[in-house]
Amino acid sequence: MARDPRYWRESVQEAIFALGYLRPEAEGKLMELMPLAQVRGPRTAAAAFRAQGKQLSANDKKRLGLRQSAAISVELVDDLTPKGLLQPLSAHEITLQRAVFTERRLRAVAAGLETRADYYLYATGSTGCPGCARLKTQRAGPGEVDPSHPLDCIHEACPVGIVPETDHRLRYQMHQGPPTDLGGE
Ligand SMILES: [Zn+2]
Repeated sequence: MARDPRYWRESVQEAIFALGYLRPEAEGKLMELMPLAQVRGPRTAAAAFRAQGKQLSANDKKRLGLRQSAAISVELVDDLTPKGLLQPLSAHEITLQRAVFTERRLRAVAAGLETRADYYLYATGSTGCPGCARLKTQRAGPGEVDPSHPLDCIHEACPVGIVPETDHRLRYQMHQGPPTDLGGE
């Protein structure tokens, strides 16, 4: 399936900035990893990057508190901010996860615009988060739907999804015209 890269950069930049695990220079690498992250998941994409290229020395792994068997490349560690260095094995994964979720919402809203959706539904199976609980099964009009990470979401990557919907009853009524036309033949 062809992938639409229109919203990758925006989503990647937002995730890098909002989470603060990676330096802005990591953007290019995350853009490369986006297709794999979307198809196989952020964990697989980040693990592939960790295993790629020159690996960190035994001493450097020790210094970062990592076990010797951990796959982690020199290139990956170069991406990390001080905050990212505290969790070098998951910094890319969580950043990619946030970007993938945001990208999905941006694409859903764009698709809704193209098909002239009447409203959007927020959908999530996530629990324990006030932001997700607030949005769950909520409707938003075309002018009010917001694809960004909800401000009151406590997840680093909010899984809430957006589904463009058509109001078939409304469409049917518009198509039929006002009730006075009924039976006029
Ligand atoms: Zn959430």
